Amino acid sequence: MLIDDDIQVLRAIQRDVRNKFREEYKVIATDSAAEALESAKELKMKNEEVALFISDQRMPEMEGTVFIEQASKLFPDAKKVLLTAYSDIDAAIKAINSLRLDFYLLKPWNPPEEKLYPVLNDLLDDWQNNFIPEFEGIKIIGYQWSPLSHKIKDFLTGNLIPYKWLDIELNKDAGELLKLHKIETKELPVVIFEDGNILKNPAENDIAAKIGLKSTALEEFYDVVIIGAGPAGLAAAVYGGTEGLKTLMIEKKAPGGQAGTSSRIENYLGFPSGLSGADLTRRALTQASRFGVELLSPCHVIDISTKDKYKILSLSNGLQIKTRSIIISTGVDYRTLDTKGINELSGAGVYYGSATAEAHSCKEKNVYIVGGGNSAGQAAMYLSGYAKNVFIVIRKSSLDTTMSHYLIEQINKTSNISLIANSVVAEAIGEKRLECITIENITTGERKTTEAGALFIFIGAKPVTDWIKLEISKDSKGFIETGRDLFKSENFKKVWKLERDPYPLETCLPGIFSAGDVRAGAMNRVASAVGEGAMAIKLVHEYLAGI
Ligand SMILES: Cc1cc2nc3c(=O)[nH]c(=O)nc-3n(C[C@H](O)[C@H](O)[C@H](O)COP(=O)(O)OP(=O)(O)OC[C@H]3O[C@@H](n4cnc5c(N)ncnc54)[C@H](O)[C@@H]3O)c2cc1C
Repeated sequence: MLIDDDIQVLRAIQRDVRNKFREEYKVIATDSAAEALESAKELKMKNEEVALFISDQRMPEMEGTVFIEQASKLFPDAKKVLLTAYSDIDAAIKAINSLRLDFYLLKPWNPPEEKLYPVLNDLLDDWQNNFIPEFEGIKIIGYQWSPLSHKIKDFLTGNLIPYKWLDIELNKDAGELLKLHKIETKELPVVIFEDGNILKNPAENDIAAKIGLKSTALEEFYDVVIIGAGPAGLAAAVYGGTEGLKTLMIEKKAPGGQAGTSSRIENYLGFPSGLSGADLTRRALTQASRFGVELLSPCHVIDISTKDKYKILSLSNGLQIKTRSIIISTGVDYRTLDTKGINELSGAGVYYGSATAEAHSCKEKNVYIVGGGNSAGQAAMYLSGYAKNVFIVIRKSSLDTTMSHYLIEQINKTSNISLIANSVVAEAIGEKRLECITIENITTGERKTTEAGALFIFIGAKPVTDWIKLEISKDSKGFIETGRDLFKSENFKKVWKLERDPYPLETCLPGIFSAGDVRAGAMNRVASAVGEGAMAIKLVHEYLAGI
């Protein structure tokens, strides 16, 4: 929908947008913001969708930002672009923060092939990927508080597969579907696929096979195998593919890693209004597969062995894969909270790092977050859009030393988020699901038990290296040591037998590299993991050239 009071500009943008997009989208143009709001209301009543609003900022009737704010209430998922002159850039930048504006387009936008179409293509592509029309895809029916239901939702969310969740206790369609398919409640959760096939109490691998995820490799031998498809692994995959290496990436759970669970990454270069972890993952996967990289998922590497100059990976499905080099980018995993009741209620109201999959179930509830880092802050912001109130429980007296400034500012401005400082969760209480939590003030010792709709735990992470039986040098916390850090180890000379020094990201075993959060000294950021992934491929090249 295009809105501009200046008829010349309106005609120009209408012509350019129609030329490119008229076959896929209906283009509505108007010179009145009030009329545009009326049209948007009518579309809403007819159950139609708006993909994109492009509005001029300076209009006598109402400013573009005001129009966008009102139109977004009707169509929150529509992409929002502001047409601005240089003098309005400040207003546009403010709108990126306050209205989640997706882009501001400077007038004039000639040539459209360079300045208009790439932006609109990208935004409409994003919209298409996240937009679910009248639902025809996978349906999951189950009990909200069943850990297996949570696991299935989390698995599909992580693998970017849209689904519709039907709570048997709340959704009357769920009962109808059970009757239709002759399914008994004791067989829940069930997954109903588009083709009518049903999986009862399914394991992840069964779902993976059904949705076409690959668990066997095409080749017997690779130049490089990347273990873990978080940002580091995905970047290595893209560079491996573009540089002509026969590349395989193996992922245990869902591509995207920790970043994939992030509701909004705001500090990744090139995305001024932020992007979700799911979007980043989808873009990276598309890029990697375009360059011929193979992905096996879900499938985990359980061991590595070496034979002459080759490395052999043993996979959880019994397969073995040979490769000339390896990049270990297995990242970190959440630390668990060792508090009374937490383990028993895990997946039934207590969740580790899965704010996105469970946000809808938090509607109108009071939810609690444990942890004061950026991941906790992002989860709080995300959940505040669903829950009645979000409480962040931290040991320290403030978030200042643990959370980025931009997130603290956002939290301070959000009225339904509160901080419970100097405190810990002392107990999680509930029969079949979380009902209450007890919070203890560690300064006064005072305890208070309060109703809790959900508890999300983000209390730091440990490296995923337990599975490595091979003698790879690790620091005292289990992070993999690489490059010059290896010299510190007394054993280094005993293990390293080459004349050259190890390359910067190389482990103590030649040809096995490590990148991202799993590496000792890593920066724990998406950008640094991506940088290390790309760098690892360059070093793999140097290694391969020397053997
Ligand atoms: C909720 C949240 C929000 C965040 N927000 C930001 C942010 O806004 N900005 C920012 O810069 N950083 C952010 N971070 C940090 C950032 O996501 C991490 O630094 C980054 O994801 C690290 O990437 P990685 O590839 O090294 O590891 P990970 O992302 O941890 O990925 C490792 C992958 O390896 C897989 N794996 C593990 N073991 C095996 C195995 N044996 N076989 C196969 N696969 C295996 C895992 O399943 C996982 O997918 C956030 C983190 C979280 C949790």
